[in-house]
Amino acid sequence: MVTAPTTTSLPDGATILVTGGSRGIGAAIASQLAADGWQVAVGYRAGEAAAQAVVESITAAGGHALAVPGDVAAPGAAAGLLAAAAELGPVLGLVNNAGITDDALTLMLSDDAWDDVIATNLSAAFRLTRAALRPMVKARFGRIVSIASVVGPFANPGQANYAAAKAGLIGMTRTIAAEVAQRGITLNAVAPGLITSDMTADLPPEAVGRVPMRRAGTPAEVAAAVSFLASPAASYVTGSTLFVDGGMAA
Ligand code: NDP
Repeated sequence: MVTAPTTTSLPDGATILVTGGSRGIGAAIASQLAADGWQVAVGYRAGEAAAQAVVESITAAGGHALAVPGDVAAPGAAAGLLAAAAELGPVLGLVNNAGITDDALTLMLSDDAWDDVIATNLSAAFRLTRAALRPMVKARFGRIVSIASVVGPFANPGQANYAAAKAGLIGMTRTIAAEVAQRGITLNAVAPGLITSDMTADLPPEAVGRVPMRRAGTPAEVAAAVSFLASPAASYVTGSTLFVDGGMAA
């Protein structure tokens, strides 16, 4: 019988890149992963001060972190971000978290809004994943977690572009997970529901009416799921989607 390589602790110096780690869900993920023992490259596009604040808080807690700038949607961004992250140590983890929305009902949804949302939420995650895999294959260890959304598999009028990107992330995760399953590398998706962050700041309070728990989730609650999927303990979990949504997908 073939047995896949497993490990009970993170490899020495294991480094993880969290895109969009400067605020919201990504900042919580970065802090949690640092507490778990990862060295964390905190990706950001515009929020340099916010990214540095995340790095400082991780460092003050005894962890290792570095802020790495880059627009994930720009050509060549993947190589640059991963090279910058590698200054901390071998990049054996990736969290595709950076994301945007640009909502409109389909009759009013512009080509630009479609293209921008697909480029940032889906194409960037593909390019980063492809570039991150090679060193993981060599190390026979890797953890890739992509932040999808409950809106991928379930309808949310006004978000056709975002839903397509998030459903695409789930499909991409499943297929690449199968491609590298024998190499000690896992890929999983986390699908949050309604989470308190800048992205959802303008939603009316009634939005929680769609959530069986009748409350929004916190970034820390999403980070807890990512923490497990990125851990050595999750060695037999791959290609899955973990909903963190207060029951929305139930
Ligand atoms: P925020 O808007 O609070 O934060 C977005 C983050 O993504 C920021 O760090 C931002 O960096 C970064 N980012 C955006 N565009 C780019 C880009 N082109 N290149 C690099 N970084 C970029 O969002 P959330 O924390 O709420 O969302 C995080 C993820 O979770 C997203 O993928 C989102 O789709 C997903 N999600 C969120 C839900 C929610 O309810 N909040 C629900 C389901 C999924 P900077 O500040 O430097 O611009």
